[in-house]
Amino acid sequence: MREFDYRRADDVPGAVALLDADPDARYLGGGTNLVDLMRTGVERPARLVDVRRLPLDRIEPTDDGGLRIGATVTNSDLAAHPEVRRRYPALTEAVLAGASGQLRNMATVGGNLLQRTRCGYFADVTKPCNKRLPGSGCPAVEGEHHNHAVLGATEHCVAVHPSDMGVALAAFDAVVSYRTADGPGESAFADFYLPVGDTPHRETALPQGALVTGITLPPVPSAARSRYRKVRERASYAFAIGSVAAALDVSNGVVREARLALGAVASRPWRAHAAERVLNGAPASADYFAAAADAELAAARPLPGNAYKVTLMRNLMVAVLSELAEEAAR
Ligand SMILES: Cc1cc2nc3c(=O)[nH]c(=O)nc-3n(C[C@H](O)[C@H](O)[C@H](O)COP(=O)(O)OP(=O)(O)OC[C@H]3O[C@@H](n4cnc5c(N)ncnc54)[C@H](O)[C@@H]3O)c2cc1C
Ligand code: SF4
Repeated sequence: MREFDYRRADDVPGAVALLDADPDARYLGGGTNLVDLMRTGVERPARLVDVRRLPLDRIEPTDDGGLRIGATVTNSDLAAHPEVRRRYPALTEAVLAGASGQLRNMATVGGNLLQRTRCGYFADVTKPCNKRLPGSGCPAVEGEHHNHAVLGATEHCVAVHPSDMGVALAAFDAVVSYRTADGPGESAFADFYLPVGDTPHRETALPQGALVTGITLPPVPSAARSRYRKVRERASYAFAIGSVAAALDVSNGVVREARLALGAVASRPWRAHAAERVLNGAPASADYFAAAADAELAAARPLPGNAYKVTLMRNLMVAVLSELAEEAAR
């Protein structure tokens, strides 16, 4: 591991200034992803700016009835917060489906959003990888890609984003706040992760050196009936091979509002707009749920080794929507 300088920031402007002064510096949250990547040589920062003591560890109501979640709130505290559990239960379920209790105690909200892909070629510095080394190629397209993307990928990169939390945040139209040396800024979650295109190494819309300061959840009444379902290859402590965050508002058997986001299928948490368009105003029935899933998955372009994900995601969407509709009918 390269030798590095360690600084602990006490306030937000101080943290931003420390990073601004050194293009080779990185913010350190819980370190549960960054330190692993430093050990393998994927990340070689000259300086770590520890942000865990910043006063960004609160979850507070907003004036319009949403919630503001600080960037250094731990994954455990986020999942356990009574207002998150009551008003956005899919978010609690998504966070609890990720990693392990010990990791969630360390991991922060900001770090979770910015964790890197689990593609094996990305993690292996002896292999080419366009995301790690732009222009070097993407061996996953012809190689091991069984848990890679089926939506929105290009021949330049087929990696998926590993966050469970992000899938629920995508369904609820979260907004990411950040701070740079020029002042505060915001990004709608829909614009936060960049399309892959031919620049897979450019992952987010954050300006250089930006510190994520928090996430705002707007008021989403339908989120009170929401669910996160994750499929993985082991019962616990494993990344998703497919996941769904869904909220469903049903009245007299008709869908008034559906929100749907998919995980482990794309380079970012994938908002299923095509499916939502089919669902909104339609009967809350399995036929329509299947039609909605098909509408979303029409854009799927699987590789030989991950075509199973298309069937898996169809079944998952239908199952979760059916459960929510049954609950609504009770
Ligand atoms: C064994 C294992 C299993 C896991 N399983 C899952 C899983 O099933 N689902 C899942 O979602 N995740 C899983 N994870 C990933 C885990 O959730 C992430 O490692 C964690 O959320 C990252 O948070 P952190 O605070 O530790 O980030 P760090 O490792 O500290 O940082 C990650 C990145 O974010 C940047 N960063 C951190 N904070 C900020 C900030 N405020 N502003 C700007 N940049 C920032 C860092 O510079 C770094 O680039 C697993 C991890 C491990 C090790
Ligand atoms: S899928 Fe992306 S991360 Fe994996 S090898 Fe290809 S370019 Fe690298």
